[in-house]
Amino acid sequence: MADGCIFCRIVAGSSPASIVHADDAVVAFMDILPVNPGHTLVVPRAHATSLADLPLRTTPHLMSTAHRIALAIQDSPLRSEGTNLFLADGAAAGQEVFHVHLHIIPRFTGDGLRLGIDYDSPPDRAALDEHAATITAALGP
Ligand code: AMP
Ligand code: ZN
Repeated sequence: MADGCIFCRIVAGSSPASIVHADDAVVAFMDILPVNPGHTLVVPRAHATSLADLPLRTTPHLMSTAHRIALAIQDSPLRSEGTNLFLADGAAAGQEVFHVHLHIIPRFTGDGLRLGIDYDSPPDRAALDEHAATITAALGP
């Protein structure tokens, strides 16, 4: 538990939350400022500030829980014609709560939410190839 971390307090049950799912490794609860009704957050129980801090073994369960919840929302009476799964890693990416969390955002046509960026023109293939090679090298064997 990290000092002053609101999501650690929710995981510990010492701050209020509307819990959707809890198990040994993750907790899912309603976002307090939902973009659309049903907006859910899923967090690892163990505090991790960022992806760099999150053990890789945690990711499959975090993701599969989000996947199950997205499908459950789509099957529920809540309005959901589609879903965005969103994770902000780092302040520059819009992260405001520094305990890793995956957003599950129900979407419907005309809901007004925009996550996209409009590019004037796509980069050329050489730039895409160079970026792919840079990331492949950083991935390692
Ligand atoms: P992010 O910008 O990805 O760090 O998003 C943080 C999210 O946490 C926002 O959507 C907030 O509305 C949500 N949030 C902050 N405090 C709470 C809380 N006490 N309970 C539920 N959601 C919260
Ligand atoms: Zn925490």
